[in-house]
Amino acid sequence: MRILDFFKRFPDEESCKQEFIQFRLNEGVKCKRCNSLDHYWKKKREQWQCKECRFQTTIKSGTVMENSKLSFQYWFITIHLLSCTKKSFSAKEIQRELGHNRYQPIWEMAHKIRSVMGLRDDLYTLKNEIELDDGFFETVDIRRDPNEPLKRGRGSQRQTTVLVMAESREVELTERNKKYKHQKKLGFLKMKVITGGFSKKLFTPRVNQSVDPDTIIKSDGSTSYSELKDNFNHQPETIPKKDAEKILPWVHKAISNAKRMLLDVHHRIDDDFLQNYLNAYVFKLNRRYFTNLFDRVLIAAVNNQWNYLGETSG
Ligand SMILES: [Zn+2]
Repeated sequence: MRILDFFKRFPDEESCKQEFIQFRLNEGVKCKRCNSLDHYWKKKREQWQCKECRFQTTIKSGTVMENSKLSFQYWFITIHLLSCTKKSFSAKEIQRELGHNRYQPIWEMAHKIRSVMGLRDDLYTLKNEIELDDGFFETVDIRRDPNEPLKRGRGSQRQTTVLVMAESREVELTERNKKYKHQKKLGFLKMKVITGGFSKKLFTPRVNQSVDPDTIIKSDGSTSYSELKDNFNHQPETIPKKDAEKILPWVHKAISNAKRMLLDVHHRIDDDFLQNYLNAYVFKLNRRYFTNLFDRVLIAAVNNQWNYLGETSG
């Protein structure tokens, strides 16, 4: 959504609130006590009341905004900023744009939005044929004992392992792109932070959660992937470094683009929050053909974790 359209649609706090109510109604307001979807709207109190058990649900309750004192307008502008460009904004920049005096609530709001983007993408599993690889992202561990010496390479406190899975299928070679031997088209992508080391014990369950059984998985011959053959059509191959970008083009592009974006915008990434930053990057990439990402994020935002109804529309 362009910025002029944004301010035409949401000129003030009331218009943001009304749209939020409308999005909640479209997705279905669910009673936290009895799970019923039938409610009365109590106009005076601006709350829903469950027709079954009379439990009251406020406008923000059960959504990403639950317990937030920030205005709807703050949330909407932040959702817009986090979805309107291919890159991103840091919480510091958002705080400056909003003119808010405290950093912490703005930082929390931005992370909550990134986190519901991830929850939304978790509803999908990858299928048909995927590329799989892992990458290392530079992070800081703010809880690390500063006297403890840093380890090098894999397992170091400064690097966090990310498992990357991308639907990728061969497309017919046209005259124009015949020079690329492995022309592949990207489908849906997932990037998952692996905490606690580098082993098949940690990798296998993540792949099982993210990928449909019997999917063809292309990867290198790392022993960390040796259990994938149990559930999938795993086709590992020894990949010389110079061919990696040809054989697994999309996972490599995703890793290098995400790293560049994170460094540009956030400079230092705390390892506890790397997954959230990746959620936002992946959410936007997966919806690269949508023209209005704001609405896609708002759908994710009204459906907080407990409230998913099973139906998905992107
Ligand atoms: Zn109820």
